[in-house]
Amino acid sequence: MASHGSSVVSSSAVENSLSSLKNCQAYIDTGMDITTVVALDLVQNGCDPTDVDNLESVMLEYAALNRDLNQYISAVEETVRKVKRDPPDEVPDLKSLVDTTYAAKQRKNSDESLKKNDKFLQFKEQLRDLRKQMGVPQDSRDQASDDDEDIAVTQSIANFTCPITQMEMVNPVKNKECGHTYEKEAIEKMIQRRHQQKKNARCPKIGCDVSDMNESHLVPDTALRRAIEVHKKQSQTKQ
Ligand SMILES: [Zn+2]
Repeated sequence: MASHGSSVVSSSAVENSLSSLKNCQAYIDTGMDITTVVALDLVQNGCDPTDVDNLESVMLEYAALNRDLNQYISAVEETVRKVKRDPPDEVPDLKSLVDTTYAAKQRKNSDESLKKNDKFLQFKEQLRDLRKQMGVPQDSRDQASDDDEDIAVTQSIANFTCPITQMEMVNPVKNKECGHTYEKEAIEKMIQRRHQQKKNARCPKIGCDVSDMNESHLVPDTALRRAIEVHKKQSQTKQ
């Protein structure tokens, strides 16, 4: 009975340490969000590109931390499952079992896979969008072709205008389905009005075939908002 009791204690100890590991994940997420905001600020204020490159390395370090943590958590969970399913005769050395499982996972890691981290991808995408909107040259690694960039720059002014209000946007949101942007308040009102009439809400951008929008499709377009701010500041100083 004594050994049974101790195994209960150790499994609740495992639960406790798992939940504190999961708290760490939240800290990593926050760190990545803050780093992204700082990088966008730097681009917005026309900083030295190497500063942004440094933040990109910071993001990759966070991504590595996040991966290691996830792998450790799943190593613990797998080990606990295994021990419960197939209890060994002697009290198992959980720590060394976890370490072995963790090491096996770590051996398969590559630096390339870190670049697939969701928040890292978001970071790259937001920077790319902001640079594009501001007409800042992209760094060569991201650049698809010069022609694309030219088109993007000439389109950027028109993109500041909301297709509903026909005014320069203040708080733009992007439709995840088609990539069109609108003033947040205007599109939300439009969707609500259509839904109250029991009708589908079409994307108000002319020529777009998205015919059933809802509010869950809308995400804040931070890069565009910042580009509009910069544009506004620039046109104010010219006057
Ligand atoms: Zn659309």
